[in-house]
Amino acid sequence: MAAFNVEKITHVHHWNDTLFSFKTTRDTALRFKNGQFVMIGLEVNGKPLMRAYSIASANYEEELEFFSIKVQDGPLTSILQKVAVGDELLISKKPTGTLVLDDLNPGKNLYLLSSGTGLAPFLAVIRDPETYERFEKVIVVHGTRFISELAYQELILDELPNHEFFQELGVQEKLIYYPTVTREEFKNRGRVTHAIESGELFEKIGLPKFNPEHDRAMLCGSPHFLTDVAALLDQHGLTESPRMGHLGDYVIERAFVEK
Ligand SMILES: Cc1cc2nc3c(=O)[nH]c(=O)nc-3n(C[C@H](O)[C@H](O)[C@H](O)COP(=O)(O)OP(=O)(O)OC[C@H]3O[C@@H](n4cnc5c(N)ncnc54)[C@H](O)[C@@H]3O)c2cc1C
Repeated sequence: MAAFNVEKITHVHHWNDTLFSFKTTRDTALRFKNGQFVMIGLEVNGKPLMRAYSIASANYEEELEFFSIKVQDGPLTSILQKVAVGDELLISKKPTGTLVLDDLNPGKNLYLLSSGTGLAPFLAVIRDPETYERFEKVIVVHGTRFISELAYQELILDELPNHEFFQELGVQEKLIYYPTVTREEFKNRGRVTHAIESGELFEKIGLPKFNPEHDRAMLCGSPHFLTDVAALLDQHGLTESPRMGHLGDYVIERAFVEK
């Protein structure tokens, strides 16, 4: 167990039948870059049952936050979805990951392209002051099946833009939100890839199509999502950071791809 800290659940919020978020205490020695992930889990039959989870809270926050799927027969999440305040959670001591601002070339617009719980690491990135110091526009694109899966709208649309500190960083003008839904009537319908290919995304947010001169991107979602969106970025001439510590026009979570 020495590789894990034992933390306590401090807050649980269920968004719907398939998604929930929770916060935990944070070991003061745990350091991470916004966008990275840790292994979290529970002790089941005397053994740790661990899964990778992006950290949704920013690295300066006192507690850790996670945004989770509920897989009904999933080994971990079938149990994890029942956690309550005060329960214990195992968290690995060494965060890692390739979804970090450090590996992006300088640019003007930062696209945070996600599907489902792939939004999680970007919740840390949009709470990072450096994001707004480095980019003029930060565009959160979130694709889900249903409207009820569009979690964290209040944070993106209200809390951050109206937070005194983030106001000073120009978040009201810089942060753009583009939610899109595949299986219900909604103002933006269809997959993220469709929004990019059809040009609807760019028309609606009032920015030109991807251009390697000034656009940068971070991608997080299902393996299919990553493959399809990366192919579109490649077509537009953006180059991927080949590995940790190497600059590119876009970064993806390599742990997802190699899984
Ligand atoms: C680098 C990395 C970061 C991750 N970050 C998160 C995160 O922040 N939040 C999160 O909920 N999950 C995240 N995952 C997935 C997570 O590790 C587990 O797979 C998930 O918690 C389900 O665990 P399980 O044991 O219940 O089921 P598993 O046996 O792990 O998965 C069962 C099935 O559910 C599907 N599935 C698993 N996770 C998801 C998901 N998030 N969305 C849709 N379908 C899924 C898988 O395709 C699989 O077939 C991440 C995975 C990786 C590799």
